[in-house]
Amino acid sequence: MHRTTLGDFELTVVSDGLYYLDGGAMFGVVPKPMWEKKYPADAQNRLHVGMNSLVVRTGEHTILIETGAGRGKLPDKAAALFDLESKLLDNLHASGFAPEDFDIVINTHLHFDHSGWNTTRRADGHVVPTFPNARYYFQRGELVHAHQQHERDRVSYLSDNYDPLLSNGQAILLNGDAQLAPGVRVALYPGHTEHHQIVILESQGKTAAYAGDLIPTAAHLQPTWVMGYDLSPIASIDNRHRYYRSAIPERWLTVFTHDPNTVWATITRDNAGRYTAEPLDKAGNQISMTSATEAR
Ligand SMILES: [Zn+2]
Repeated sequence: MHRTTLGDFELTVVSDGLYYLDGGAMFGVVPKPMWEKKYPADAQNRLHVGMNSLVVRTGEHTILIETGAGRGKLPDKAAALFDLESKLLDNLHASGFAPEDFDIVINTHLHFDHSGWNTTRRADGHVVPTFPNARYYFQRGELVHAHQQHERDRVSYLSDNYDPLLSNGQAILLNGDAQLAPGVRVALYPGHTEHHQIVILESQGKTAAYAGDLIPTAAHLQPTWVMGYDLSPIASIDNRHRYYRSAIPERWLTVFTHDPNTVWATITRDNAGRYTAEPLDKAGNQISMTSATEAR
């Protein structure tokens, strides 16, 4: 567990566990001799990556950003390939949170490894919302794309992860950037998907951002190092530059969805144009990092 404060907010990173993704797919057109120095692959060219959710306690709201891959959603063969651990609920419990505590759940997009614990498949086969007291926020355009079931990416969209929330009224569909609560807003940063959003948190002059798949790990900081999964790599590059124009000078704490080691960091750019993750805030601002020393 990683916990810190951001002004009046308490932030906790909680993981659904590790899983395997193909190294080539994770780094797109970047040659392997370059990326494997930053993120080593196993003998099958797989990367062992994380699924980090973020819990935000604002004092008024308890918010869960992203819900991992869940359990029992994928066909057995696919689940075995990914080697899913499905630990989010156990890890939430260990961090002091019960499913009933959350009043807001946010998905950056609806891929299976970002929305899996939105719902739970019970032993009798029924699919029910995992967080009974929450409103779930995601983009209407993302849902429309999920429902299209396009052959390019339909394997990533499992209707059980979102359709039950539409029928019971717990889903709130967003039409672009939106303020969800004081100090909590979402902003479209497309590229990975056309309606991919990030979550921006602001309290007492401090800012943190849950970057989703805009920047999946700290090994993906260079703007052109985008994933092969991204539907619009040029949009990903342009949006990373847009993100850095605010995040670097304002020293935002960036939360990385798929990095099992560096779960959060501030990002800097040196004179040679290289981007670096600084797990500890060397500028000495008020972000108190209690577990960042575990970062690689
Ligand atoms: Zn992802």
